[in-house]
Amino acid sequence: MELKYIKHYHPDTQAQVQALIKKDKLAEHILGKYPKTHTIKTDKALFTYIMNYKNEHMRKSDPLSKALYDGKVQTLNALGTHRFISRVQGGKLKAKNEIRVAPIFRNMPEEFLRMIVIHELAHFKEKEHNKAFYKLCEHMEPSYHQLEFDLRLYLTQMDISTKLY
Ligand SMILES: [Zn+2]
Repeated sequence: MELKYIKHYHPDTQAQVQALIKKDKLAEHILGKYPKTHTIKTDKALFTYIMNYKNEHMRKSDPLSKALYDGKVQTLNALGTHRFISRVQGGKLKAKNEIRVAPIFRNMPEEFLRMIVIHELAHFKEKEHNKAFYKLCEHMEPSYHQLEFDLRLYLTQMDISTKLY
């Protein structure tokens, strides 16, 4: 079985995950680390949640105009999206920043929602996935890389059997 969500990780890491799957222990592993889901179910709650992080770490960046769980965001490489819209208002160029998160995050542990929110917020400053981008993610959440890996494990488990939570 090819593990598409973690294929960029070290072969040893992939082998460890394969072993967990073979023993039917991946779900247990994830649930052990992340036993419950969050309560941020509405777009309004999501907006407030994101604003808390923004105010804490990125107060000076462009304002957040909108946040929502969007069913159109669903592919592997776009679990969240950040749209930057510029429009002219009264002769002035206005920037609008939106964050759209895939609906699967609605029933996930809070840590995974946090990871995707931080990822999209970091794009307010860095458009590319470069060193500066990941440095900013790690500044906002020191466990950023671990959370991303565990999220990929969660998505792998979802492919094996549908629901964890
Ligand atoms: Zn990105």
